[in-house]
Amino acid sequence: MVKDFVFGVDLDGVCADFYGKMRAVMAEWRGVDVETLTPHVSYGLPEWGLLPNEYGRLHRFAVTQRDLFLSVDPVPGAAQAIRRLGTEGVRIRIITHRLFIRYFHKIAVAQTVDWLDRHGIPYWDLCFMRDKALVDADVYVEDSPENIERLQEAGKVVVAFTNSTNVHMHPGPVLRADNWTSVEEIVRDRYYGWLRKANKKLPEAPGHEPPWPNCRHVS
Ligand SMILES: [Mg+2]
Repeated sequence: MVKDFVFGVDLDGVCADFYGKMRAVMAEWRGVDVETLTPHVSYGLPEWGLLPNEYGRLHRFAVTQRDLFLSVDPVPGAAQAIRRLGTEGVRIRIITHRLFIRYFHKIAVAQTVDWLDRHGIPYWDLCFMRDKALVDADVYVEDSPENIERLQEAGKVVVAFTNSTNVHMHPGPVLRADNWTSVEEIVRDRYYGWLRKANKKLPEAPGHEPPWPNCRHVS
């Protein structure tokens, strides 16, 4: 069996502007002006003054009543970069921890699949997983500080996608990207190195199909 070069892609805070959408939902939930809620949040949103156990209720409202995973905006450049890498022969593996609330899985999964198709994000594998290191990938992109640390501890190559939840991390992960242009460059660099090692020819240019039969090609 021929191994693919696998790119493990996190959704919330990396491909999907999760915190931007949640800020609007939170403003409605509280009945306050959105400007009163700082956009510079940390993981778990303590800056917005959530009450104990309130996050679960807010999250359920956001997904089931405001179609969070369908209406969230994509992070600029994410879909285009993933499309180019997929066309070049990278196997796109979406890895997301969106099923952490019981009994709303159908709607969460359906919204996720619809959103990926709506924004033209190609993928071969869709994994709803908490422990992302158990899903093998040659390189990951991730924003949660805990996941970044866990993946690093497991010896995985992880690109930390900068946002307010991880910007404090020091001395910082080896690989950090502030935008999708940078993610794409890092992943392509790793992928081309992997192709050279495997004695495979490189695509002619970014976004081009590889010059070898690729039955798992995604456009
Ligand atoms: Mg995330």
